[in-house]
Amino acid sequence: MSKNYSRAIHWFRRDLRLTDNTALEASLQESDQVIPFYLLSNWTKEHLWTGPKRQQFLCECLESLAKNIKHLGGSLILRQGDALEELGKLAKESNADAIFLNQDVDPFGKETEQALSRLCDELGIAFHSFKDAALHGPDEVLKGDGSPYRVYTPYSKPWLALEKAKPKGKPRSIATPAGLASEKLPSLDTWNLKLDGMETLPGGEKAARARMKAAVSERIETYEKYRDVPSAPGTSRLSQDLRWGTISVRELFHRAKECRSQQYLKELAWREFYFTILHHFPEVLELEFNKDWRGLPWDEPDEKFEAWKKGQTGFPIIDAGIRELLATGFMHNRVRMVVAMFLTKDLHIDWRLGEQFFMQHLVDGEIAANNGGWQWSAGTGADAAPYFRIQNPWSQTKSHDAKGLYIRKWVPELADVPEKALLAPPENGQPIAPGYVIPIVDHSHERLLTLARFKKHREEQR
Ligand SMILES: Cc1cc2nc3c(=O)[nH]c(=O)nc-3n(C[C@H](O)[C@H](O)[C@H](O)COP(=O)(O)OP(=O)(O)OC[C@H]3O[C@@H](n4cnc5c(N)ncnc54)[C@H](O)[C@@H]3O)c2cc1C
Repeated sequence: MSKNYSRAIHWFRRDLRLTDNTALEASLQESDQVIPFYLLSNWTKEHLWTGPKRQQFLCECLESLAKNIKHLGGSLILRQGDALEELGKLAKESNADAIFLNQDVDPFGKETEQALSRLCDELGIAFHSFKDAALHGPDEVLKGDGSPYRVYTPYSKPWLALEKAKPKGKPRSIATPAGLASEKLPSLDTWNLKLDGMETLPGGEKAARARMKAAVSERIETYEKYRDVPSAPGTSRLSQDLRWGTISVRELFHRAKECRSQQYLKELAWREFYFTILHHFPEVLELEFNKDWRGLPWDEPDEKFEAWKKGQTGFPIIDAGIRELLATGFMHNRVRMVVAMFLTKDLHIDWRLGEQFFMQHLVDGEIAANNGGWQWSAGTGADAAPYFRIQNPWSQTKSHDAKGLYIRKWVPELADVPEKALLAPPENGQPIAPGYVIPIVDHSHERLLTLARFKKHREEQR
């Protein structure tokens, strides 16, 4: 049967896999030949929204993707520069008659899609875009009056109830036209970056699928019990794979559903709740979601912010979290909340600075979830913790790391201190252990300052 197109470009972006890839599958069905394409960004200095670990992970994902495509007979074409320029050039050079892609979930990617669709019109070629990164798009789960939900629980109910698409398989072959020039696979040198800290999890579809299988067989059934224990391997550790698309969320959802952990499925709903918030309220990238808190004063970043960034605050749970992040590019969710709340409520530093710092270090850095998590912790976001509910880092340690297993792993200075020394501020202004910092603030005092600051701001708005 003849196909609609003779040559199509599939533009890989946050869908770096062959299995159950919606747009790739469609391009292969509709076109005789497919050009698998990836565009390398050409910035070469420190980037506000990414860093060495994230880029290293990306390099490994691309290496694996190129290998897998080759195995099916095709070849991954890499170019570097501006997306529209490079895609326009490639379309002309290759006589492509269509461009396929999976839709992005953040405003920057969406803007490029709109511009690309216009370019395709100008070039007289077809443009096809597909939902792939989420189970439900931002307009699929809306209130009765058609407006978006602003609160998670009422969003999650229809989200969970909606039928979910089933995953498809993997293509059998890819025929790529010969003779197209390609950049070589990137390395950190491409962006003048150097890796620091320990190694991160390996990138690529094979490694991601192994992690997914391990999560399904070992972690998801007991997820509810261990998800809040940062020292346990209690969560799925799949966030970087969902971010880069090395696994399909459809496949993960259906596999996880078999484990009967409703709590785990609800986490996937949080991910899509934040996609929906970012889609309908893109201003959250600049402003507080809750208008009541816009213009709330924050302190200038000072030496305390520097101490926080190094994991040198004298609060063991905070320092352990930041050191885990610096070493591995990951931080446990419970600790992310405590660390973010500490920056905003104990140090009174603007959540936007913490948001940016996380994006530069997290391998799973996802604009929507990161913004949502930071605004939640700051008390300014959609369905956020109310400003007066301020987590106490010492009692959070007692609830989630009472034996200090997580803390001792990441803060070796505290390896030999008794458990109870990790659960309350040290007395007499002495450090908890030789060589460890004295707490840089008094939590009880800073808590009162935060309450007063939020209250004053609210009164001034009236
Ligand atoms: C301040 C802050 C910043 C965060 N930044 C990010 C980020 O940049 N990228 C990111 O993927 N997650 C972020 N999160 C959410 C959460 O911490 C991570 O998704 C989770 O720790 C990843 O580990 P896991 O894959 O083992 O998660 P699991 O607990 O196994 O959860 C399964 C999946 O559900 C999703 N998920 C779980 N919790 C959340 C949540 N609260 N919000 C959105 N999605 C969720 C993730 O995709 C995750 O992989 C942030 C949370 C906070 C408090």
